[in-house]
Amino acid sequence: MTLRLYNSLTKQKETFTPIEPGRVRMYNCGPTVYGRAHIGNLRSFLFADTLRRWLEHEGYDVRQVMNITDVGHILADADEGEDKLEAQAKKEGKDPWKISAEHTAQFFADLRALGFREAAVYPKATEHIPEMLEMVDGLVAKGHAYRTGDNVYFDVASFPRYGRLSGNKVEDLEAGARIDVLEEKRHPADFALWKSDAKHLMKWDSHYGPHGFPGWHIECSAMARKHLGDHIDIHTGGEDNIFPHHECEIAQSEAFTGAPFANYWMHAKFLQVDGGKMSKSLGNVYTLSDVEAHGFRPRDLRFTLIRGHYRQPLNFTWDIMADSARALEKLDDLVTRLRRIAAGEEGAADAGAGAELVAELSAEFSRAMNDDLNVPAALATLFTLRDHAVQERLGADAARAALEFLAGVQDALGVLDLADAAVDADVERLIAERAQARVDKDWARSDAIRDELLARGIVLEDKGGVTVWRRK
Ligand code: AMP
Ligand code: ZN
Repeated sequence: MTLRLYNSLTKQKETFTPIEPGRVRMYNCGPTVYGRAHIGNLRSFLFADTLRRWLEHEGYDVRQVMNITDVGHILADADEGEDKLEAQAKKEGKDPWKISAEHTAQFFADLRALGFREAAVYPKATEHIPEMLEMVDGLVAKGHAYRTGDNVYFDVASFPRYGRLSGNKVEDLEAGARIDVLEEKRHPADFALWKSDAKHLMKWDSHYGPHGFPGWHIECSAMARKHLGDHIDIHTGGEDNIFPHHECEIAQSEAFTGAPFANYWMHAKFLQVDGGKMSKSLGNVYTLSDVEAHGFRPRDLRFTLIRGHYRQPLNFTWDIMADSARALEKLDDLVTRLRRIAAGEEGAADAGAGAELVAELSAEFSRAMNDDLNVPAALATLFTLRDHAVQERLGADAARAALEFLAGVQDALGVLDLADAAVDADVERLIAERAQARVDKDWARSDAIRDELLARGIVLEDKGGVTVWRRK
């Protein structure tokens, strides 16, 4: 089936064709680690995770890179006028390196709790300063950037395609918001590639001076290039990243290489809370901890954040969380019922009953996901399936096919609970048997058990005398 994705660059749904057949190179703008990721950030990251999962479900070999912005934003939040990481460091009286390290660790813990698939690399901006300087130097050499004192700016007038992604025209940007009007710039829309400030806490010595630090946009251009190459398939972020961040990334990367940067630009709409913008003053900038403090599981949050279409605004309320928890109960009930039907304990007498319906729903699920990741339509098929299971319209063969379909759904969405107590008990029994075989030095038996479990998708790891297991 053809996968169609909405491309913010062309403003239409397009058939997805990777640069290299069977492989996808994807870059996701990651968190700025001056604080814990809030549920809005998590929505954007879950959109990227869903995209990665679906591409893998469809057989692509995906190389996913998500950066960690551990140097503060410089011009991105010009309306707030300060570098958030630095501001936080001053407020807490802490070293910014320490703050970003703590929040990076917290970010990974949140990703694990929410069932994210691990990216190939999570590059940190602070570890890519030479790569950024290489691009800055190259842009100066090519006449796309200029130096003023110890600062370096990108010259937007030198890149005629500037504005193509966001629709902003350079001439309209004169007095517009979110750009710094500075005397030293040739044009107000010119943006910093490299800045210098003796007061900055995180800074690097270079031929531009001793107190330099990168502009936010160059970080992503340099890290994408280092870990994915000059030309990538997909670049994602939240809708606020379109301008200036991604517009500037395109300008820098394409001016530097002279070739296209990313083929598909994809953006998640903002999450709202109680119908409005999340804000500190309203006290509704929620994190995973707040959600757990309200008695919900990470799984309930994952479901809430992916259940709407990523290009539709999503409104977070405690009611929708409760509704998600109820929906997941129904899906758990579906799994239990299908297992009972498959075992012949209930369901239609005719084993083949409902087989066609299951095939149709499975095809409908794929059609929806292939249509620009229409998760709400995809999820609807699961509730239809449950209605049929409840009404005893499915036979044992159809239930087995449905369970296979659900294994694919889990692979794509990561919200189901397919753990099976009976299977778990069997695995535990084999692990105990293997431990005994090892005591008896019966290595052939021990290896045979490991291989048997592996064939069932279960990996054993011997850690300090204890054997733990996980699903592949
Ligand atoms: P930041 O940590 O501020 O750099 O943001 C990380 C990512 O979260 C970026 O891709 C933003 O576009 C995205 N983001 C920020 N706020 C929201 C929100 N309310 N809803 C969805 N995505 C958001
Ligand atoms: Zn970025």
